[in-house]
Amino acid sequence: LSQLFRPLDMLGMVYRTVRQGLLDMAAMFDLIDTDAEVVDLPGAPALAVARGHVRFEDVRFAYDAERPILKGIDIDVPAGSTLAIVGPSGAGKSTIARLLYRFYDLNGGRITIDGQDIAGVQQASLRAAIGIVPQDTVLFNDTIGYNIGYGRAGATDEDIRAAARGAAIDRFIESLPKGYAAEVGERGLKLSGGEKQRVAIARTLLKDPPILILDEATSALDSRTEAEILDTLDAVAARRTTITIAHRLSTIADADQIVVLDAGAVAERGTHAELMARAGLYAEMWTRQAAEHDTEDTLAAE
Ligand code: ATP
Repeated sequence: LSQLFRPLDMLGMVYRTVRQGLLDMAAMFDLIDTDAEVVDLPGAPALAVARGHVRFEDVRFAYDAERPILKGIDIDVPAGSTLAIVGPSGAGKSTIARLLYRFYDLNGGRITIDGQDIAGVQQASLRAAIGIVPQDTVLFNDTIGYNIGYGRAGATDEDIRAAARGAAIDRFIESLPKGYAAEVGERGLKLSGGEKQRVAIARTLLKDPPILILDEATSALDSRTEAEILDTLDAVAARRTTITIAHRLSTIADADQIVVLDAGAVAERGTHAELMARAGLYAEMWTRQAAEHDTEDTLAAE
């Protein structure tokens, strides 16, 4: 019977995702590979990733012709380095990630990976090269093992266990009476935000992509869980080209490069130290977030 319901679950998921306004990148990117907007050129070759050097060159994009969202973005992400994109809500941060995944085609400029324009390669090969850890992971109504194994077709039980270990969710799973066979999702066990994120990390470890997009959760995890997840993510990001869409600046101070996006343009770029010394938008955002943290700590202590 569960076989029969799986397509229905998928449909329900598609509906919820669309309703969320494309918020859940995993659902849009990993789980639904049908989109009408973007098509492969005839005879397009597969992307050949050597090291994962990503470049955005004068990237222009609008969802609706009247309202430009990205107005000529230049960003260079050397292979193996980390880029953090920050900026006010609506600045276009998630849009940059969607364009790298070629969810839409550009209105101008180009995006290259190891020198190849992503618009000229097979989409499947592009998407195989990029892993996404989204803000909010959609789980199938199936076992937790299935939900992790989804990261790679043909994953064995041992692969799944190794990925769970890498994402530091193995002990949690082993503590469940049914272990990896425990049902999760709407009709099963409800996982916390942090646990769901670990499932997404485990999936990504199985996929083992050279390029990683991390869409940082806006919903607050408690600070201990957050610190633990960040440690896990650091390990996953090592050796991979990583683009983090960051909402909390405290989590990205170590990034090789921080780009501050404002109204669809790069307002500032540099390391944390360089941007603080500049005393501009980033420094202002940092000071404001630090003050908010202090207030939260004070409230928590009272
Ligand atoms: P946040 O920090 O709030 O997540 P963001 O910087 O990631 O914001 P984007 O999600 O990239 O911002 O959105 C940039 C702009 O594009 C916003 O004004 C948004 O309303 C608009 N937008 C996003 N997705 C679509 C869409 N599918 N159709 C039309 N407009 C969209």
